[in-house]
Parts: sequence; C-alpha cells; structure tokens
Amino acid sequence: MTEVTVNGKVFQVLISRKELEEKIEALANLINSKYSGEEPPLLVGILNGSFIFMADLVRRLHFPCTIQFIRIESYTGMSTSGVVKMEADVSPRWVGRHVIVIEDIVDTGHTLSRFIPVLKSHQPASVFVCALLFKKEALEVSVQLDEYCFLIGRKFVVGYGLDYDGYGRNLPEIYQLK
Ligand code: 5GP
Repeated sequence: MTEVTVNGKVFQVLISRKELEEKIEALANLINSKYSGEEPPLLVGILNGSFIFMADLVRRLHFPCTIQFIRIESYTGMSTSGVVKMEADVSPRWVGRHVIVIEDIVDTGHTLSRFIPVLKSHQPASVFVCALLFKKEALEVSVQLDEYCFLIGRKFVVGYGLDYDGYGRNLPEIYQLK
C-alpha cells in the first residue's frame, strides 16, 4: 500500500518493510559485536511506540539479555504537549547493568533528555541509546543518541509501532503525513 488513511488523515509510505528489515539487521549486528562476551545487558524500551522495533531487534540478538519497558508520553495528536510524563519502575535493577535504551523516534529530544539523567543516576555500568527514527531538524535539546536507523524530515509519521491518536501502530511500514 502506498497510501493509507489513519483517523481521517492521508499518509503515504516513507520507509518500506524491506528497508526496515535491512537497517534493523545492521543495528542488531552492531549490538551483537558490541555486547557479546559482556555481562548480559538490559534492554529498556520506551512505550508505546518502541514495541515492534524492540520485538524485531531482540529476535536478532545472539547473547543473553533481559527486557524492560517504561512508559514516557509527550505527544497529543500530531504535536508534542511539551510536558513529558514518565512512568518508570526506577528500581535498583539498573545498577551496574549495561543498559540499551530503545526509542521509536527522537523528535525534539525532550523525552530522552528527561529519561537518560534519571537512568544514569542509578549507576548503570554503561548506557547505549538507539532510535529507529531521528528527526534531526526538530531537535531542541542535546541528547545522547548513539545509533539510529533512519534520518527523516519534520513530517509526522505513523506505522511500525507509531500512532496517530492511538491508531496506525499495526501498519507494517512507516508512513508520513501527505
Ligand atoms: P521527543 O520527546 O523527542 O520530542 O519525542 C519523542 C516521542 O514523541 C516519541 O517517542 C513519539 O512517541 C513522539 N513522536 C515524535 N515525533 C513523532 C511522529 O512523527 N509520529 C509519531 N507517531 N510520534 C512522534
């Protein structure tokens, strides 16, 4: 499908399934070589948007690891509310762990700039941050972003876990607002 309607708005395909698979494979290879032989890392996925990216990435990892999801929200409709709400189980399980943060998209950077200092205050052994998508032109604050799969423009995107007001997460490709 090259075009879809989500919640009354028309979106066109931006990133195909094949491109997603290739980039996620490349990211998994990089993470495999970085963490093989290390203490098992903890992958922390930021909900809701990262659930499909996380699922596809972890199935390509060849070392023991554990997984945690935390919920951080800032978007209402198609724009950021400016207020970052965080529901995290900030338990001692981050202490001394190699933590890999999995984010769906970095836009203004406020979500990561709020979360990473909280994570680091729990003394993890290391922190590696990856995102599927990076809207570099929209960045408002400097953030730690070690790897990303695709650099995209400012247009609003849905699919592959990302939503428009709750809809569109099940689309297998990434679509951008037409
Ligand atoms: P930031 O805090 O970097 O501005 O935004 C991060 C969060 O905003 C993402 O995790 C995601 O939930 C949401 N977001 C930013 N841009 C988009 C977009 O184009 N589409 C969707 N669906 N969500 C977005």
